[in-house]
Amino acid sequence: MNINWNTELYCLIGDPIEKSLSPEIHNYIFNINNMNCNYMCFNVEDNNLKQVLDTFKILGIKGFNVTIPHKIHIMKYLDDIDEEAKLLGAVNTVKYVNGKLMGYNTDGAGFVKSLVDSGISIKGKKILILGAGGGSHAVSVKLAQSGVKKIIILNRTIEKSKQLAYNISNKFKNIAVEYDDLKSFSKYTDVDIVVNCTSIGMYPDTDEVPIDISIFSNKTVVCDIIYKPIKTKFLKNAEKKNMKIIGGMDMLINQAILSQKIWFSVDKNIAINIDEIKGFLHYSVE
Ligand code: NAP
Repeated sequence: MNINWNTELYCLIGDPIEKSLSPEIHNYIFNINNMNCNYMCFNVEDNNLKQVLDTFKILGIKGFNVTIPHKIHIMKYLDDIDEEAKLLGAVNTVKYVNGKLMGYNTDGAGFVKSLVDSGISIKGKKILILGAGGGSHAVSVKLAQSGVKKIIILNRTIEKSKQLAYNISNKFKNIAVEYDDLKSFSKYTDVDIVVNCTSIGMYPDTDEVPIDISIFSNKTVVCDIIYKPIKTKFLKNAEKKNMKIIGGMDMLINQAILSQKIWFSVDKNIAINIDEIKGFLHYSVE
């Protein structure tokens, strides 16, 4: 790394930010593309958020990512928010341009890209979403926007799945939306894709699964947005049944690539080898 007076700083703000993989992904992309940029993490407490954004403006920081707990609160401090982030109600990417902070969200698009890259078509498909937290919102809304036929949202706290289902059916009139308790999953086996958006199975509770996947047909595609571990027990169980599986690492890498496309304009040809990124992240995660 060759830092000089002209190096541009990009960063992640959140609390906590320990063990974030974002610096490894972004700095890899900067390095292989010979970009004079560096990516760092800053732990920012909620009561300092506004001050930090004002400082970023003064310093001319051109772009940054936002993680828990600021994805929603930050919206009130931004000068403009793109339609997709407004729809999701959360921002994970900010670009500083012409004196203004612009908010975007690349989480849902990162997930959908991981399906498309694996050759899975989404249009007209029936999707079962497990969980109704932040990750589930991003994934569900983007799937709705991408033309799926039906979305069923199951969550332990049924009020949250009801609220998310209500938001989606309000905005996407042509999509059938249902919600239920996570425990009722066995009623919903007629689906094409199942996505685990709960944190069940995440490190250190790697022996846990959100639902029994063996009741679904082996034509069902099974996704997990958890990336630690890279292959959750849920995915391992699906793999044993010869189901096609997609892990959360693809979404994580794709949302980072999409952030870079926002910072450096969509047309910039950024060379990326996703398998190489997965290769070195493997050592950070497992
Ligand atoms: P969140 O907003 O806190 O939501 C957590 C979800 O998991 C809620 O639906 C919660 O249900 C459910 N849940 C947690 N523990 C449960 C349990 N014991 N039994 C049943 N349900 C349980 O978290 P998030 O931000 O959506 O993140 C969820 C997971 O996705 C995390 O592992 C995170 O690392 C991962 N993620 C990955 C990416 C990526 O780029 N790959 C992006 C975002 C998130 P209740 O509502 O009932 O509490």
